[in-house]
Amino acid sequence: PAGIKDGKIAMKRYITAKETPEAIQAALQRPSQRSSEKILSICHPIIDAVKTRGDAALLEYTHKFEKATSLTTPVLKAPFPESLMQLAPETIKAIDTSFENIRKFHAAQKEDKPLVVETMPGVVCSRFVRPIERVGLYVPGGTAVLPSTALMLGVPAMVAGCKRVLLATPPRADGSPTPEVVYAAHKVGAEAIVLAGGAQAVAALAYGTESVAKVDKILGPGNQFVTAAKMIVSNDTNAGVSIDMPAGPSEVLVIADATANPAFVASDLLSQAEHGVDSQVILIAVGLNEAQLTAIEDELDRQANALPRVDIVRGAIAHSFTLVVETIEEAMKLSNDYAPEHLILQVQNAEAVVDYVENAGSVFVGPWTPESVGDYSAGVNHSLPTFGYAKQYSGVNLGSYVKHITSANLTQQGLVNVGGAVMELARVEELEAHRRAVSIRLGVA
Ligand code: NAD
Repeated sequence: PAGIKDGKIAMKRYITAKETPEAIQAALQRPSQRSSEKILSICHPIIDAVKTRGDAALLEYTHKFEKATSLTTPVLKAPFPESLMQLAPETIKAIDTSFENIRKFHAAQKEDKPLVVETMPGVVCSRFVRPIERVGLYVPGGTAVLPSTALMLGVPAMVAGCKRVLLATPPRADGSPTPEVVYAAHKVGAEAIVLAGGAQAVAALAYGTESVAKVDKILGPGNQFVTAAKMIVSNDTNAGVSIDMPAGPSEVLVIADATANPAFVASDLLSQAEHGVDSQVILIAVGLNEAQLTAIEDELDRQANALPRVDIVRGAIAHSFTLVVETIEEAMKLSNDYAPEHLILQVQNAEAVVDYVENAGSVFVGPWTPESVGDYSAGVNHSLPTFGYAKQYSGVNLGSYVKHITSANLTQQGLVNVGGAVMELARVEELEAHRRAVSIRLGVA
């Protein structure tokens, strides 16, 4: 069966020199997604119900999906009670360290001064930044505890200066949010936590309810119901809400050469494979011989079997694979075509190889940079484009929380200088009022 070789957990191996380009292209296709039509048809009525019946509908779905039947209000407002964020000191320290690194890196992305360019004498163009006023941050709950996602979404919102930051996360069965997420929400200055998940939470953020304030943009990962709901509300012009990016299952591509430590390589592949059975992990092995490939495969099997989530790993490995190539150039070409969410470079002169990266969500450079550091604490964001969208989308960054506004400011002489071009183009486009707005000022016909 897929994912098993000689009784071991193993990825399928392709030697690119022995395959057709078409076979390699086919291998690089992502595993297909469950019918999105079906998911959309489940989400539409949920969204309509929250839109029309507000809090009552939101609570009904939370009672149904989260089994949190004791919950009577869907919102927890700041200041959050201490009793809901009781954590071990080492957990607090870890969140604080990560918070500070994420804050530093995103604060450095601030554009403090407007960009000002005089395109012609007396014609001044500028561009300045303003935060998006209200943002809704979806922190998945369901199966896992995800304070890291609360930080990755909340810290840049705080740094950007968004006036209203709402978090939404499914509560636990007793109706309470996970304490780690409450602590993260408190640190980033969120005004409220919406205790709901899935399409109903997205709808509440998009349209507002009696107790949930409507937001201007919804950011954050989630399962296919969350993703579908984000697509639906962002396509509804009446909602007036945008989203961060489309989302699919998480993935990693590791490029390793003979200098790479097989145990490190295997550990990076597995740290992604344990995310979910739909995750995909790819190894591109550059110039490795049989013994070196086997060393990585043995490590993968040994480490996988020691993991608590080995069953999930098996599922992910079944549609994951190794590509054996000869040169780093070939490896980078394949990687750029695939456009991985995470790219790990465990090769000689890894830093120089970064120059070849055209498409990737985030890059992890050298043997001492496992993807986990980026998932949690280094400072880079972990909300990244998946499913090949790294070709056209950036991961979440400070820019995700702001708008750029431009302005033009002309002197009389500036209008004299540029007016001829404006009037001529207005004439060509047959927009006479446009032309006259210039001619009337310049006193010409
Ligand atoms: P979730 O919060 O995304 O979804 C839980 C919600 O799903 C429930 O509240 C419910 O509303 C909805 N739901 C579940 N079954 C449903 C059904 N049959 N019909 C309608 N709605 C239903 O939590 P999750 O399910 O644990 O998923 C977490 C997801 O987030 C995973 O897909 C994971 O890969 C992803 N994730 C991504 C990142 C990242 O940064 N890329 C980080 C963490 C998690």
